Amino acid sequence: MLQQFYPQVFHDFRYELNKDMQIAAAHFINHKDAGQCRETHGHTYFINITIAGDTLDDSGFLVNFKTLKDEVHGVFDHSLLNDHPSFADGLPTTEMVARVFWEKIDERLAAQENRPYCLQVLVRETPTSYAIYRPKRDEHR
Ligand SMILES: [Zn+2]
Repeated sequence: MLQQFYPQVFHDFRYELNKDMQIAAAHFINHKDAGQCRETHGHTYFINITIAGDTLDDSGFLVNFKTLKDEVHGVFDHSLLNDHPSFADGLPTTEMVARVFWEKIDERLAAQENRPYCLQVLVRETPTSYAIYRPKRDEHR
């Protein structure tokens, strides 16, 4: 299935983990060039998060899958994305959604002693459209 194909991130960490999840959310793009997307509408977003690192925590995890689910699904599922402070500029585009998810995850991972890194967040908005956010090396906290 096309929705299960993900672009790979090349790295030299020992471990890599991927977490898939989906959320139902609404948004509108408050911009004159956004056409129909200026109206509030909903999507089922398919999300793939890639985490990598060299060291596991003392329970043998790079990061607990549940932690990732809590940071994204737990916050954004069944919500209007525009209501979240991260989208105060009114532009929760697929690209911005991927970036905001990355920021939340990176902040959480920075607090872990084994310090895993989020290398990629893929957000599929429709069966034919997705965007990816990949941080620059110095963006990690
Ligand atoms: Zn949309």
